[in-house]
Amino acid sequence: MEIHVELKTMSKMFCGCKADHFAKKPNTQTCPVCLGLPGALPVPNKKAIEWTIKLGLALGCEIPLFSKFDRKNYFYPDLPKGYQISQYDMPFAKNGKLGDVHVRRVHLEEDTAKLVHQKDMTLVDFNRSGVPLVEIVTEPDIRSGEEAKEFLKKLYQIVRYLDISDADMEKGSMRLEPNISVRKVESQKLPDYKVEVKNINSFNFVKRAIEFEIERHKKLLESGVTPTQETRGWNEDKGITVSQRTKEEADDYRYFPEPDIPPFRWEQSVINHQLSELPEMPGAKKARFIRDFGLNDYDCGLLTDTRELADYFEECVKLGNIPAKKLANWIINKKVDIDTVLPATLVKSIVAASHVVEISDDVLRRVLSANPKAVEDYKKGKEQAIGFLVGQVMRISKGNPAMISEKIKEALRK
Ligand code: ZN
Ligand code: MN
Repeated sequence: MEIHVELKTMSKMFCGCKADHFAKKPNTQTCPVCLGLPGALPVPNKKAIEWTIKLGLALGCEIPLFSKFDRKNYFYPDLPKGYQISQYDMPFAKNGKLGDVHVRRVHLEEDTAKLVHQKDMTLVDFNRSGVPLVEIVTEPDIRSGEEAKEFLKKLYQIVRYLDISDADMEKGSMRLEPNISVRKVESQKLPDYKVEVKNINSFNFVKRAIEFEIERHKKLLESGVTPTQETRGWNEDKGITVSQRTKEEADDYRYFPEPDIPPFRWEQSVINHQLSELPEMPGAKKARFIRDFGLNDYDCGLLTDTRELADYFEECVKLGNIPAKKLANWIINKKVDIDTVLPATLVKSIVAASHVVEISDDVLRRVLSANPKAVEDYKKGKEQAIGFLVGQVMRISKGNPAMISEKIKEALRK
């Protein structure tokens, strides 16, 4: 699997242009650097490099103390310089693992311009040109469409926890490329072909594209034909993949070290510091929730889905008064809008609502029979008497006065 993730830095990878290009007027966020004009020099974005290393660390990668950028040469209208600044043999991070899937490398590069195809022409929008793009490459450890989807969901969650990209697939800020080949169960080595499906924008489509490819390859292989090594695209409407580009031979990008950017040398202490600053990752958080709050695996999975929700839950717990299980149920079942309801407000309303439930008929009966005079007064039309009765109920069982008042009135109506 290859995954491209656009970082949400303020500026682009090698110039000062705004990186947020989504739905902006075409070609309004450009400069000589990201237009690839002659003589323009790239200046690397420090934040983008920090975030790439952060992601590498979160994926359990080694961070080599020496790294560099390289030029990947190819000719295409979305690439104004005729090469992409990327990383070849010395990525910022390598040899990590997420779940059962080994991560081969995490490297940093620049995004290309966006081509807009129209009837009889293709337009180029350079706003996306030079946006920081992280590429994550896994080892061939994934065995089904479902496994791919599970892996991608975990990766997405980590990227969001780190707050380095909105990873919005609809906007193209996370783009997915499975490479598929099929081998016999008893065969130990990888097949000598693979088919790449380019730029998929949903986890479900990845799953379906993989399943489609596996079936297609199986049929070919069973009839004695090795599938062609090629690049394919996912046709969303038909639910099939279609051939785009056949690789007659391996691509020759003529990689060489980027001469305009000196290589990077890190101090181990800087990397260690970065590691210590990592936020708690979803897996660890979930395990802690199970341990500390005595909740089940499923609920903890839901509560730690996003960092915001997990923080919200913990803040509610800290406010006290309500058992974690009850809070969890409330937040999950009532689909509390954590952006608008403050933790304190939520806790208050749970307390209030809970006590209405807990004002049992028994409590009510006790209060009413112990205060016959107030009951009589109320029945004669003295509205104030209700306040006295509410007070009596609240002495036994705290709660929301308005709701208690309603309950008493209801009881006296009978
Ligand atoms: Zn620029
Ligand atoms: Mn790439």
